[in-house]
Amino acid sequence: MRLKIVQAGDPVLREVARPLALQEIHSDETQRLIRDMKETMYDAPGVGLAAPQVGVPLQLAVIEDREEYLKSLPEPELLEKERKPVPLHVLINPRMVGQGNDRVEFYEGCLSLAGFSAVVSRARTVRVEYFDECGESRCVEASGWFARILQHEIDHLGGTLYIDQMHSRTFTSLDNWNRFWKAKPSERARGLGSQPQGK
Ligand code: ZN
Repeated sequence: MRLKIVQAGDPVLREVARPLALQEIHSDETQRLIRDMKETMYDAPGVGLAAPQVGVPLQLAVIEDREEYLKSLPEPELLEKERKPVPLHVLINPRMVGQGNDRVEFYEGCLSLAGFSAVVSRARTVRVEYFDECGESRCVEASGWFARILQHEIDHLGGTLYIDQMHSRTFTSLDNWNRFWKAKPSERARGLGSQPQGK
């Protein structure tokens, strides 16, 4: 079932989400929520979705960057952003346990701020520990766009949105991003975007 994605201003986006107990992960309710969140993410379409974005203040997020999303993008942009297909990850109680010192700046968007984008500085590499949908403990080391998605989703679980750390003067509607910023080199626009894809 597709769920409604709440927009900025809904208090649930500003709550610190509650961790799931291990036995809760196996419950029908949680498994149904995971299924519904995947469907909602694919439908949006987006490359990540956190439970607070569907009105549920739990430490749960789904991430997937599909091959089909990348096909329409120019190769130099994929290289610059280090954007590669990422298989589905279900992240439960994720913890950021390491961040590299390198920072990178790109436009990003959010499904809960539909129609807008801004440049956000993020760590280029991260290491995250989490539980998967089977309750197995896992660890992922990510770089590039995948690392950005992880940071964006984990921020959601702490009640943080990208607008809290964006370069505020780069904030733009997607229409104006397409009109004025899409073709600009990254140095000039503080990050060159492709079509900013919601998370
Ligand atoms: Zn988001």
